Order: sequence, then C-alpha cells, then structure tokens
Amino acid sequence: MTKHGSAGERAVVLIVDDDMAQRLLMRESLHDSSLVVQEAANGAEALDAFARFSPDLVLMDVKMPKMDGFTACAKMRGLAGGQDAVIVLVTGLEDFASIGRAFDAGATDFITKPVNWPLLSHRVRYLLRAGRAFRNLRQSEKRLSIAQNIASLGNWDWDIDKNSLYCSPQMYRIFGLPADKSPAAYEVFLQRVHPDERDSVKDLVGKALEARKPYSIDYRITLPDGACRNVHEQADVVHDGKGNPVSMQGTVQDITERINTEEKIRFLAYYDRLTGLPNRQLFLEHFNQALFAAQRDGSKIALLYLDLDRFKRINDTLGHSAGDKLLKAIAGCLGDSIRSSDIVAKAGPADKPGVTLSRLGGDEFTILLTRLAEEEHAGRVAQRILDLLSQPNRIGDQEVYISGSIGITLYPSDGEDVDMLLRNADVAMYHAKESGRNSFQFFSAQLNQRTMEKLSIETDLKKALERNELLLYYQPQIDLQAGRLAGVEALVRWQHPRLGMVPPSMFIPIAEETGLIVDIGQWVLVEACRQAVQWRQAGFAPLRMGVNISSLQFKQQSLAALVRKVLQITGLAPGCLELELTESVIMENVSLVNDTLIQLKELGVNLSVDDFGTGYSSMSYLKRFPLDTLKIDRSFVMDITTDANDAAIIKAIIALAKSLGLKTIAEGVETAEQLAFLQEQGCDEIQGFFISRPLPGLEVERYLLAGKKFC
Ligand code: C2E
Ligand code: MG
Ligand code: MG
Repeated sequence: MTKHGSAGERAVVLIVDDDMAQRLLMRESLHDSSLVVQEAANGAEALDAFARFSPDLVLMDVKMPKMDGFTACAKMRGLAGGQDAVIVLVTGLEDFASIGRAFDAGATDFITKPVNWPLLSHRVRYLLRAGRAFRNLRQSEKRLSIAQNIASLGNWDWDIDKNSLYCSPQMYRIFGLPADKSPAAYEVFLQRVHPDERDSVKDLVGKALEARKPYSIDYRITLPDGACRNVHEQADVVHDGKGNPVSMQGTVQDITERINTEEKIRFLAYYDRLTGLPNRQLFLEHFNQALFAAQRDGSKIALLYLDLDRFKRINDTLGHSAGDKLLKAIAGCLGDSIRSSDIVAKAGPADKPGVTLSRLGGDEFTILLTRLAEEEHAGRVAQRILDLLSQPNRIGDQEVYISGSIGITLYPSDGEDVDMLLRNADVAMYHAKESGRNSFQFFSAQLNQRTMEKLSIETDLKKALERNELLLYYQPQIDLQAGRLAGVEALVRWQHPRLGMVPPSMFIPIAEETGLIVDIGQWVLVEACRQAVQWRQAGFAPLRMGVNISSLQFKQQSLAALVRKVLQITGLAPGCLELELTESVIMENVSLVNDTLIQLKELGVNLSVDDFGTGYSSMSYLKRFPLDTLKIDRSFVMDITTDANDAAIIKAIIALAKSLGLKTIAEGVETAEQLAFLQEQGCDEIQGFFISRPLPGLEVERYLLAGKKFC
C-alpha cells in the first residue's frame, strides 16, 4: 500500500507559488506533524515535483511565470496518480473567470486570496480526508469492476422515483453495446434479447417491477454479428428505512461458457458420439415419456427394433473404421428419410404421429413411432427402412451391401412398460433373423412361446450331458454293389425328461450358439467309437462309423489330438472312423482346416463332406483337401425320379466325385426308384428311410446278425 493508504502515514502536500513569501506562509500555516510539505516555484517545476513526490494534495497559485496553475493542473491530471490527487488552485478574490477556469482544468477546489492563513490548515485536512474517501471509493470501484470482469457479471440499478437506469460497463460489454454511445435505456438492452425470448423477458421484468418482487431468469442475447450469448439475470428491490421501495437492482451474468459445457456434457450423456443420434439413455427417456403420453390419451405406439444382418462380418473383413463409416452412413440415411417425412409425418403437434430414431449401441437401432393411427403403419415403415438399407453403400472405394432385421412391438397390445416392449421387440427381431433376415416381424404371443421354449431348452441342455440324457442312434449305410451294410452314421438324440425324444434340429443349433456343442461333440465321438469297438468285439464284421463334426469343434480344440486320443482309449481302428464335415465347416475355417485335415488323414481316419451341394460346393476345396467321400444332400435325392434337373445334378456330382477319386453316399433315399436311379448312376452307397431310419444300437445289432442283403 502507498502513502495514500493507512491513516497513520503522513500525507504529502505540494505548495506551488512563484512568490517565496507566499510559499513560506503556506508552509508555516500547514506546519503539522502529519504532513510532509514540498515546494515548487512555477508550473513546470510543479510537474517535476509531482512526478517525484506523488503528493496527496497540491496547493497551487494560478498566476505564475513559465507555466500557470491552470495548465499545470490540467497536465497533472494526466500524470500517473494524477486522478487521485486533490488539487486546490489559489485564485484572486471574486475572480469568477479564474474560478471557472480552475474547474475546467480539473481542480478539486479553490481558495481565494488573500488567504485566510489560520483556516488553511483545517481546510487542507478536510480536503485530504475527502480525497482519501474519494480514492478509496475509486479503488473499490476498480476492484469491483475487475471482479465483475472475471465473473462476466454486470449490474444495473433502476431508481424508481426518478425512473433512471444505471448500467455497469460490464452490462454494456455483455450486451455488446458501446458504453459511450448507448443510453442506459431499458429498451436498448431489451432489443438485444433473442426475439424468441424477448416477450417473456419483458413480461417477467415488467411484472416484477410492478409487484416490486425479486426475479431470476435465463435468456439468450443476440449480438450484431449473429453470435448468441446465454445470460442469467437476477434482481431484487431495495427499500428505504421505512420499507418503501426506492430502487431495483439486478445483475446479469454471462453464462455462455457454462451452458456450452453443460450442453457438451449432455451430448456425451445422451447422444451417440459416432452417429449423433440419441443413445440408449435418451431413447429410454423418450420412450418413457411417450408411454406416459399414450397412457393419458389412449394412443398407440410402435417400437421398431432394427439389427443389421451380419454386421460383424463387415467389421471383420473391412476393418472397424469401415464398420464405423457404414454405421454413420446408415444413421444419416435413416435420419434423413425420417426427417424428410417420407417415412412418416414429422414429430409435431400433439395429434400428429411422431418418430424418433436412436442407436442403442453396436449395430442396433430403434425407431419409435408415437400416436400411431393404424398398426399396419408400423409394418410399412419397417418395409421402407429395409428398402432404404438395401441401397448399396460406398465406403471408400468399396461398395458395401447390408440388410437388416426388424422386430416390432406395439403398445398397448404387446406390453405395458419399456422393459417388456423392448424385450418383445428383441424376440420379434430374433425371429425375423431366423426366418432368413432382411425382413421384419411383429411380435406375437406364439413367438414368445417359441423363444421361451428355446430358452428352457438352453438351460436344460446344459444339464443333459451330466444327467446322461443324450444317446446315439445309428443310421445304416448300404454299399450298392455288395448290397450290404457298409457303415452307420451316428446321430445324436436327447431323451428329454419332459419333452421326450428331442431331434437334433431342436438343440444342435442352440448347442452351437452356446458352445455346448464342443462337449456334446466329444461325448458323441467317444460313444460312437466305443459302440463300433463293441460290435467288433461281439464278432461282427468291421463297420465304418460316421460322426458329425461341427464348426466350433474345429475352432475350439485341436480336433486331431482329440481324435487320436479317443481312438487310443477306445481302441478303434482309424480306418473305421469317418468324420463328416459340412461344406461351411470347411469354408469358414479354410486356414486351419487344411492343417487339421492333414493331421486327421495322417491318423488314418476317413473324411467326408456332409450335405454336399447345399453350400459353397467349390471344386477347389474338393481338390485341395484330403477328402474321401461326398455325401450328396437329401434335397437333390428327393426329386431325382421326377425332376430332370435334379437327376442331371446328381449325375454330374457322381461323375465329378469319380473323377476326383471320391466315394459317393446319397442321403435321404426314401424310395426304390431313387435307389434304382442311384445304382444306375454308379453311386457307391446310400442312406435313407427306404433302408432304415436311424436306430438304437441294439436294433443295429439285429441287422448285423441277420447279415441281410438289401439290394
Ligand atoms: P445329417 O448329418 O445330414 O444327418 C442326416 C439327417 O437326415 C438325419 O437327421 C437323418 O435322420 C435324416 N435322414 C436320413 N434319411 C432320411 C430320409 O430318408 N428322409 C428324411 N426326411 N430324412 C432322413 P437328424 O438325425 O435329425 O440329424 C439332423 C442333423 O443334425 C444332421 O444332419 C447333423 O447335421 C446334425 N447332427 C446330428 N447328430 C449330430 C452330432 O452328433 N453332432 C453334430 N455336430 N451334428 C449332429
Ligand atoms: Mg451327417
Ligand atoms: Mg447330411
């Protein structure tokens, strides 16, 4: 703090007069222990002294050589600290012109000559005190101003009696108004309020003024360059001692930054960053609100649950960034068509239907249709979305095709609350996928029933192995030349405690989905080998044992090591085991399949392609891999005697197999005609209901005992 500060410090007084006697008298009359007196003989000297001593008070004669008092006074005001000093000019008695000039030059006060010496020191003490108060005031104003700048806070003060308004510099700054050119008029400030909010602000302020009550409000300001600011305004009434309102005072704070940050946080919390669509959180909120509104007005809602088909494959083959681009493109295209109202009318007035698109995560989207007029409308929207999705997407230089499956639930028929409607939409979507993808499916109670069954099968299946509920049936395979049993195919069955005998089509896909197939497959392999050995030990001629191998068994374990171990433990001759692999098992695992197949071949087991003709049927893998047998799928055999096409295909497959040195087994032979045709074409073996259905082990023994000739 300077000498201006505490009262204990001595004030500096500068006496300026060209008359030495005057200076002496002044000094003497100011003789006081609380003052330090400095002198100067003219205006120019006074400026030097001012800069050197920073006086608190200057007592200066106006008439001086070189530079008069008026000029010196005006110059002092421009010096550092010049604003804070008390400057008293000494003029001639009743020299009104000088008094006026002194005022213009910025003097604080004047005294007239002849000076009343005894009074002078009192006058000076009074002026110093006033100067100090003035300085303190200015300082606190400055501090307030700095604080207000930091806080982006402006204040205003409306004098009720005089109807006059004061606005702080920060007010002008916040409202983007030049302080020197804009009158402190309410209307001027009001013009800057965003047009949408101007009326409500005016209304509130008007009412508060009338009622003389405090208020607070947030609103937007539009600046001349079009930029927008958010402010928070608060005001209260100030009363006099008797409780009468005298003024209203308010603050306006620029909260743009806070609002922007809040908006960013809100965006992160409620929107999906990749697509900019509402995320699960916001979707749930919308959904809840929509349900609430629908409950109130008895309207209908449809929830469309969209899941892209095989999206994972795009991520796996083209990379995640391409996957992201595709998701963005799809979100954009769905969003556009929803906005352009060509899918449904825009969300609008209360009686119009509304639509919201959200991304729940991954490749899942929801479309919420509110105030639905007819339920079929949801189906139409779903079909439009599928059509939209079927358009090719350009990702980089690739053209990418995608489709989607949509499940639809309706409120109120399919569920009361968000959870149930979502779950049911998921069930419906799942069924859309099952029925071949690229389709939509309404939820129904039957669908749910099937899902529940599946779920219960899944839980029961987990226990089936330990409870010994699985067993094997064996379907004979007949050598068409010898007419005798050449082998059997082991087919798993599940003796379910409640459902009875469950066919593999009911549980193998679930076992594959859940991974249980690995354990089941291992059990089948052991059991089949054990059975084959048992027949051999019972004295029957060696039989080939066919065992089905699923894709996961390839992926999850070293199949060759497992087979070797099982052969070792059971003692089955490797040549008696034939592993059946479908075309898709081979094609999905091309990289590891070759090694595994070679290892298996080295063990001496046979390898066959199951369901040949239903999958990729590529010549290249038939040539490339060490295979032994083609099992011609039942679907070709079915119509060979009636459909010339199928007959031609079978002929071609048999010829192809022969040229590659592969044996052929025709599956699903049900009639004597089919058998005859296949025999004619040189097919090696057949398997089918015509010969026998899959049988329990004991019944196979009967065949073996009979040594029957089949054809
Ligand atoms: P798959 O390997 O092609 O087995 C032949 C299927 O065709 C068997 O059905 C069999 O009962 C049926 N079939 C045989 N002859 C005829 C016929 O003349 N007419 C008709 N309509 N069907 C006939 P199943 O036993 O229901 O097995 C279905 C599929 O389940 C099998 O097809 C196989 O892919 C799978 N599977 C069965 N057991 C196992 C197993 O232990 N492991 C694995 N991974 N899959 C198995
Ligand atoms: Mg098979
Ligand atoms: Mg088959």
